[in-house]
Amino acid sequence: MNLRSAADRLGISAGRLERMLGRIVRSSDWPEPRLLRFDKAISGIEAGTVVFEDGEIVYGYPKIRRAMMLDPAIRRHFSGGVLVEEKMNGHNVRVARVGGKTIALTRGGFVCPYSTEVAEGQIPAGVFDDHPAIVLCGEMVGPKNPYVPKDVYSADSMDFCLFDVSRKGKRDMEGSKAAHAIAEEYGIKAVRLFGEFGVPEAAGEIREIVEDLGSRGREGVVIKDPENLSSPMKYTSSESNCRDLEFAFRYYNDYGQDFFFSRVVREGFQAAEWSDGAAEFDARCLRLGRSMLLPMRETVEAKISGVEIAQEVEILVRDLRTAADFEEHYRRMGVRAVFEPPRAVPGGHLVKIRRLVMSTNDKTRSVIEGQLW
Ligand code: ATP
Ligand code: MG
Repeated sequence: MNLRSAADRLGISAGRLERMLGRIVRSSDWPEPRLLRFDKAISGIEAGTVVFEDGEIVYGYPKIRRAMMLDPAIRRHFSGGVLVEEKMNGHNVRVARVGGKTIALTRGGFVCPYSTEVAEGQIPAGVFDDHPAIVLCGEMVGPKNPYVPKDVYSADSMDFCLFDVSRKGKRDMEGSKAAHAIAEEYGIKAVRLFGEFGVPEAAGEIREIVEDLGSRGREGVVIKDPENLSSPMKYTSSESNCRDLEFAFRYYNDYGQDFFFSRVVREGFQAAEWSDGAAEFDARCLRLGRSMLLPMRETVEAKISGVEIAQEVEILVRDLRTAADFEEHYRRMGVRAVFEPPRAVPGGHLVKIRRLVMSTNDKTRSVIEGQLW
């Protein structure tokens, strides 16, 4: 790879890029294509940015900040109205055509073999024929998503849902309207667009949307500028915050403490902004408390009865090669997991994966054996 020209395109000096190699910037030659990947954000270059061997760059997807209180946040950040889209709960991918092939990059800038297979199957080649430089940013969702398995979406296995577009070599996102236009033109699935609202009524409308989404097991919304002039913000339902907690408390020692704290704080702000009545507030307290204690208790009881704590997920691949490649991808990302032998089913091969949560297992065992905290 020509480091000098890569550095030029990134807008940094060749010496600087060279010094970052092996630390902030990692090189990868598997799976193809060969690339450099930014592990951390640095001087305006998002984490997850990738430079391919042919010199082309796909910039990382920018961070989306969170509104804690809807009304003041919307008034402060938007002026000409807002677009409200569903926030789908899966993993972020950027899909591009590189060296003649469609590839899907994860948020961190890894080529994910499984996401790539899904993208190849679902995104018509025409969009890349007409726009060779386009980068399709979307969420992979569904019950067979090994990163975030969710069965509340219509997908049987895993679906790609477009929410933004960008171009190779460009840092900027083109925004919701551009993304929905591309989705419509090429028949690509896209996130749901609830509509456009004026700033004064937006918070009230969004509250209703989010309450409805929450009751249906969905995550929340992303609020965007119709003209793409200011950055989007996200807001999630109480049910979704609590489901995250329920999942994380099952593996309580494998998550950072901020994961738990931030979700409890969200509930406090939401209860205040939505002026929970006595009954609603009690329901919120019960939901929040149960989402923490129930899984914790089950983990401890499972361990007492000698059951190993593990996360079980499944993937559905068309090609057996994809399953083998995905196993290698996990290994390279440092995920410890056991892959069961593939089982042939209609539509492909089903592979069960058991992720080991060592820290929670060890901690729980030591406590039930009488160790002090
Ligand atoms: P951050 O973007 O703040 O780093 P994160 O990695 O913690 O966030 P989330 O809390 O899930 O992730 O929120 C942002 C992510 O939401 C985006 O990166 C994207 O993958 C996902 N997403 C789902 N639906 C949408 C949508 N309609 N518009 C934009 N992003 C969406
Ligand atoms: Mg997410």
